[in-house]
Amino acid sequence: MSAPNKSYDPVEVEALKPEEIERMRDEALAAFAAAADLDQLQEAKTAHTGGTSPLALANREIGALPPQAKADAGKRVGMARGAVNKALAARQSELEAERDARVLVEEAVDVSLPHDRVPAGARHPLTTLSERIEDIFVAMGYAVAEGPEVEAEWFNFDALNIGPDHPARGEQDTFFVQGGKAADAEDSGVVLRTHTSPVQIRSLIDREPPVYVICPGRVYRTDELDATHTPVFHQVELLAVDEGLTMADLKGTLDHMVQELFGGEGMKTRLRPNFFPFTEPSAEMDMVCYVCRGESVGNPDRPCRTCSSEGWIELGGCGMVNPKVLTACGVDPEKYSGFAFGFGIERMLMFRHNVEDMRDMVEGDVRFTRPFGMEI
Ligand SMILES: [Zn+2]
Repeated sequence: MSAPNKSYDPVEVEALKPEEIERMRDEALAAFAAAADLDQLQEAKTAHTGGTSPLALANREIGALPPQAKADAGKRVGMARGAVNKALAARQSELEAERDARVLVEEAVDVSLPHDRVPAGARHPLTTLSERIEDIFVAMGYAVAEGPEVEAEWFNFDALNIGPDHPARGEQDTFFVQGGKAADAEDSGVVLRTHTSPVQIRSLIDREPPVYVICPGRVYRTDELDATHTPVFHQVELLAVDEGLTMADLKGTLDHMVQELFGGEGMKTRLRPNFFPFTEPSAEMDMVCYVCRGESVGNPDRPCRTCSSEGWIELGGCGMVNPKVLTACGVDPEKYSGFAFGFGIERMLMFRHNVEDMRDMVEGDVRFTRPFGMEI
């Protein structure tokens, strides 16, 4: 049995003296107590419990001691480190509680404070209705097309088979912006577009068939503003050009649109012969009255104010695209056919929402738009 290590030199382990370990412990406890916030405590923690802290360094010295001294020193250092860790945890929770209490006070919301009521406002119903119509057609694969409101006369008239001497050219009360030199796209005069049809022409020229576009937009006529007229109004027009399109496709598309817009079963359209220069054949389209669904016709017990008991409401014009229009846009009418229709959004808004005066739509009074709600 070997004798205890007689070469133990107390000078070499100065750091392990009881009073020295007490001093290290007390320094640590004082540093924790002095930490005013969690950041300072973190610094004190690194200084007094980290790998290079005095107690950690002292702990390393223990290995060099003889067994008995090792046990004593280990116990002393262990107790000191235990006390330090306990004090650290206590100060930590103390400072956290202080911080939480302070945050509660600093970030408290005073629910009794008076507040400003900012009304949510509302988008204009012409915009939301126009977007709703676009959505119906986008869902069927149509693209939304737009064009300039200041338009070349050629796009507004000539390309649509409305030549310089065509009576329809005089019937549209046009705002002329600039005179022209010739009846072609480059040198014709400039007008404020009287309908959205020039967008159809631009779409046909820009795109290769098949073309399926919906063209919503502002149009201009020299009308006085009154209850049923406005010089600036909105149209939406639809154009489909593909191989083998017929009047039946047009009818099915119109039926689908009124079912989507006015809801459900029994909504349908009818076509009445008419004339437009840019379609052949052309038709007026009516839709069945969405209030009485036609049941007021010949039924004096159940009159309908919406359709004046006629059962139908006139919606707009439509037809098969005139082959001359296709030719003007470089599309072969032998190969392709198409249909188009258009209607005024103001008029649609008037009977869909019982708006009686068109002036309400342009005067910008929020009392008009607010009841339509914040539809987005
Ligand atoms: Zn009716």
